[in-house]
Amino acid sequence: MADCIFCMIANHEIPSNIAYEDDQLIAFHDLDPQAPVHVLLIPKKHIESLDALTEEDKDLMGHAMLKIREIAAGLGLENGYRVVSNNGEDAFQTVKHLHFHILGKRKMLWPPG
Ligand code: 5GP
Ligand code: ZN
Repeated sequence: MADCIFCMIANHEIPSNIAYEDDQLIAFHDLDPQAPVHVLLIPKKHIESLDALTEEDKDLMGHAMLKIREIAAGLGLENGYRVVSNNGEDAFQTVKHLHFHILGKRKMLWPPG
């Protein structure tokens, strides 16, 4: 969709720090991280929010949910993470392209043990 910043990221029209990508999804690091690890997982298809999902999106959403743990593991979040999706005006959704925030902290590398 024209003028959608996340569609532009999905199409590689603007750069992002990509954490995961396949034909249906892309995950990239948030520009303004709210946690030591803050990645956004989006469908490449433009869907405005959870409210805009249809039956047609069932497989896509199942795929996205099952990918989260793999993406989190790739980010070193084996010890836990949060997943958040701000939906609509009262939730302060600023980008109108469905996205799942994946938030966590990297496993401590120091002190050892
Ligand atoms: P929302 O408040 O809509 O749930 O979150 C939108 C998120 O997108 C924010 O955390 C914001 O920092 C992030 N964001 C907005 N524009 C860009 C961008 O151009 N690149 C990246 N990597 N993140 C963005
Ligand atoms: Zn979009």
